[in-house]
Amino acid sequence: MTIIYLYVFLLGLVFGSFSNMLLFRLTRHESIFGRSYCDVTKKQLTWKDLIPIVSYIYYKGRCRECGKKLPIKYPIIEFINGLFFVAVCWITITLFNQTRFPEVIWLAIFLLVMFQFAYILILRLIE
Ligand SMILES: [Zn+2]
Repeated sequence: MTIIYLYVFLLGLVFGSFSNMLLFRLTRHESIFGRSYCDVTKKQLTWKDLIPIVSYIYYKGRCRECGKKLPIKYPIIEFINGLFFVAVCWITITLFNQTRFPEVIWLAIFLLVMFQFAYILILRLIE
């Protein structure tokens, strides 16, 4: 059972990273398609640069390509998103065990999507 929460947490990290990408590009009026790149050298990032939280810690909060310091908000956003996914998963499993209503699953998906939208919107407003 615990392994489910670990997977859901990792999924939350990936979605958090995606939110960061959307936030970064939307505030600069860039396309949301295409690979991520260093905003100083414009070189494409490799998979090693894109692992949520891990890359930030491994490269000590700096860009591997140019050494520019990266905002701490990126791993924080990823982490909060991971925790939120775990919370929704826990609530869903608890409700489902009590009610046996499959609609609970749709409620969870709805909550996750709404959270993602709200998150990006709020982050974009405070950027
Ligand atoms: Zn860079």
